[in-house]
Amino acid sequence: MKMSKLFVQTLREYPSDAEVVSHKMLARAGYIRKLTPGIYNFLPLMWRVLKKIEKIVREEMDNAGAQELLMPFVQPKELWEESGRWDAYGKELMRLKDRHDRIMCLGPTHEEVITAIARDSLKSYKQLPVNLYQIQSKFRDEVRPRYGLLRGREFIMKDAYSFDTDEAGLDKEYENMANTYKKIFDRCGLDTKMVQSDSGAIGGSVSHEFMVITDTDAGENDVFYCNNCNYSANSNHAVSKLPQAIVDGKQYFPKTEIIDTPNTHSIEELSKFLNIPSTLILKTLVYIIDKKPVLALIRADKTVEETKLMNAVNGVEIRIATGAEIAELMNNKGYDAVAGFIGPKGMNGLTIIADETVKDMKNFVVGINKTDRHQVGANLSDLGIAKIDYQDIRLVEKGDICPECGKPLFVTKGIEVGNIFKLGTKYSKPMNAVYTDINGEMKPYVMGCYGIGISRTAAAAVEAHHDEYGIIWPLAIAPYHAVVVPVSTNDEMQMSTATKIYENLLKSGVEVVLDDRDERAGVKFKDADLIGFPYRITTGKTLTEGLVECKIRETGTTLKLTPEKAVEYITTAVKNIK
Ligand code: ATP
Ligand code: MG
Repeated sequence: MKMSKLFVQTLREYPSDAEVVSHKMLARAGYIRKLTPGIYNFLPLMWRVLKKIEKIVREEMDNAGAQELLMPFVQPKELWEESGRWDAYGKELMRLKDRHDRIMCLGPTHEEVITAIARDSLKSYKQLPVNLYQIQSKFRDEVRPRYGLLRGREFIMKDAYSFDTDEAGLDKEYENMANTYKKIFDRCGLDTKMVQSDSGAIGGSVSHEFMVITDTDAGENDVFYCNNCNYSANSNHAVSKLPQAIVDGKQYFPKTEIIDTPNTHSIEELSKFLNIPSTLILKTLVYIIDKKPVLALIRADKTVEETKLMNAVNGVEIRIATGAEIAELMNNKGYDAVAGFIGPKGMNGLTIIADETVKDMKNFVVGINKTDRHQVGANLSDLGIAKIDYQDIRLVEKGDICPECGKPLFVTKGIEVGNIFKLGTKYSKPMNAVYTDINGEMKPYVMGCYGIGISRTAAAAVEAHHDEYGIIWPLAIAPYHAVVVPVSTNDEMQMSTATKIYENLLKSGVEVVLDDRDERAGVKFKDADLIGFPYRITTGKTLTEGLVECKIRETGTTLKLTPEKAVEYITTAVKNIK
C-alpha cells in the first residue's frame, strides 16, 4: 500500500470530546470517526486491526472445539419475554417497532436466540456438549457512552454459548474457555488478569472477567488482588475479612441519649463535632432500587458497594435517593429529617439491609430522622427494628485483608476485555430448552456464556501500548507491520531503494506501507509514530554507506542494516508472530 493512496487523514490535534488516550489517538491517527455519540465508523486502518483480533479469536475458539454461526441482530420481544428479561433488562435494551407494530429489540447479547436455536436442534444427550459462537455488532443504549471504542453503543463482540448435560460438563468447558481466553489475549499482545466478578444482568452464579491492567483513566474497574495468593476480584464482587473497628480504649457514650448535633450533615462533620472515630457511627443511606426505597446500614468508616447492595435485594437498577425522595419518605413515616440525620428507627415496612460491620457495633451514634439531632450510646436492639437483613454490602479497600490468605489486598485499575459466566439453567429452564437424558428424562441444558469485546480489546491495546507520540501496536494486531520512508521522494537513490525494500517485504508476506508522499521527513516520521507501525525503515543519508535505518517502535531502537538485512529482520519478526 502506498501512503499517498491509504485512506487515512491524521489530525493535527486530538478531538475535543476525547477523554482517554485510546479515543484521542485512534481518532487523531485516522482509525475511527464518530457518527453520533457512542457510534463510530471503523475506517480502513481500524478495520484491519479488528479483523486481526477477530482472526485470533476465531482460530482459538475453533481450536477449543467451538463452532461459529451468525445470529440475527434484530430480535423479537416474545423471546425476551420467555426468559423474563424484557422487563428486567432496563434501558440499555434498544426497543423498536416494525411496520406491523411488532415490537423488536436490537441485540445487546444473544442468550435468548441461542437458547431457542438449541431447543429446536439439540434434543438428545448424544448431541451434547456443544459450544456455539459468533462475532457480530451489538447495540446497547449505554447511559454514558464514552471513552471512544471502550464504551460504545454499537460495538463488536464475540459471544459464545455452551450447552452441557450437567454441572461437571459446564465446569470443564468453563475451564476450556478460560484457557482459550488466556491464549487469545496473549496472542493479541495483551497482559490480562482473570478476576472474579459479579454476574450482573446476564445472571448465573460464577463469573470471571479478563482485565487489561492500566494506570490510565480508562480503567473503569477497580481490581483488588493479593500478592501472596491468587485472589483477585472486581470491586463489585471483592470481599475481605471483616475489618475490625479501630478502638482507642476509651469508653464512649455508656448511656443512651438524644443530643443536638447541629449542621453535622456528613460523617466527617459528625465525628469531628463529637470528637469520636467514625467507626462509632452507624451510617444510614437511602437508595432507590427498582423504583423502591431501600435503607442501607453500614459502619461509617466503610462505603456501600452498590452492585453488592443491589444483588442483596435481587434488583437490577440502583441509585442513591434524591433529597426530594428522602423528604417524601420522611413525610410518609411522619418525620422531616434531611440526609445526614436519617436512621433505621421507625422505618419498619422498608427493606433494611445492614452490612456485616454493623453486627458488632455497640453504644454507637445513629440518626433518628430528626434534623440536627442524633442518638448516642445506641444499640440495635433498642431501635425497635422488626427485621434487618445482614449481608456483605461493603466496598473493599486497599489494605483490607485477603479473604483467602489473610494478607493485605492491593488495588489497581482494569479494562474488562472479556468475561466468562456459568449460567446453569437460568435461560434453559424458563425457556423450556430441554434434552432427553440417558434415562429418557427431559432436562434443561446446563449453559455457559463467554464474551470478548473485539472493538474494546483494540482500544485497550492502545491504552496499554502507547507513548506521547502515538500508538505502539503489538505486532500481531498492527494494521500494517512496517512503513518504508524515503527521507526525500525527489532523491532517486532513496526512492528506488525504498521501493525495492517495499516490494521485497511484500513478497515475503510483510504488510507494509510505502510513504511516497512529497512531505518533509519530520511529518512522515510523526505520522508513522502516531499510526503506530511496529517497524519503520528509512532510506536517507546512510545510503552512502549502503545502509538503511530500521527503527523499532516499541523500544525506540534504531538499527543500521543493509536493505537485505532489514527485509530479513522484519520478515523474521513477522514469521514469528504466534
Ligand atoms: P461492562 O461491565 O464493561 O459494561 P458487560 O459486563 O456489560 O461489560 P458483557 O455483557 O459480558 O459485558 O459483554 C462482553 C464483552 O463485551 C465485555 O467483556 C466487553 O469487552 C464488551 N463490551 C460490553 N459493553 C461494551 C460497550 N458498551 N462497548 C464496547 N465493548 C463492550
Ligand atoms: Mg455493560
